[in-house]
Amino acid sequence: YTFDELNLKPEIIRGIFAYGYEQPSAIQQRAILPITEGRDVLAQAQSGTGKTATFTISALQRIDEKLKKTQALILAPTRELALQIQKVVLAIGMHLDLTVHASIGGKAVQEDMEALRNGAQIVVGTPGRVYDMIERGYFKTDAIKMFIMDEADEMLSSGFKEQIYNVFRFLPTTTQVVLLSATMPQDVLEVTTKFMRNPVRILV
Ligand code: AMP
Repeated sequence: YTFDELNLKPEIIRGIFAYGYEQPSAIQQRAILPITEGRDVLAQAQSGTGKTATFTISALQRIDEKLKKTQALILAPTRELALQIQKVVLAIGMHLDLTVHASIGGKAVQEDMEALRNGAQIVVGTPGRVYDMIERGYFKTDAIKMFIMDEADEMLSSGFKEQIYNVFRFLPTTTQVVLLSATMPQDVLEVTTKFMRNPVRILV
């Protein structure tokens, strides 16, 4: 595949080329189509494979710009990674009209509340803060159609298991789940069997 063959919105193609990517990487060639078609996808992929752009491009494709509600939730193990993901989403999505909010520990709760109440269409966050905002009722999950877990092995080994399971309880049962992990330890496999439906498995 080339990027032109992935049936992406023209604004996304422009964003990808402006960001400097010419050809999709192996994981992008294999994962973008099934993710944009709404399938659950389980990808075993290390950093450096182009995994961030894989789920970023797919999430941008699935967002309805006119619906001002949170439609995609991306969780990452650290604040730094969440902010880095937010940057990539904003850059590749620069020609789309949408809001991307980072909901991370250490930032003012007030700012978080406002962005979430205004219906940031994509939320990137760390599990603790995101669950806190959901539990307090500031983060409405009813329009979420896509849940992405980046570096799932890292998140689960850093003690976020309970928060992640709690987040799942608040997602619509139809939510698509995309999980990326460098390794597949027991905790990750448990998430896949509990929460994923007939996932497409990709190993890069
Ligand atoms: P990641 O695996 O998400 O950490 O990405 C590793 C690096 O590859 C980052 O610097 C990305 O900007 C870059 N990258 C991702 N996809 C592509 C692509 N299709 N072409 C060129 N570079 C890419």
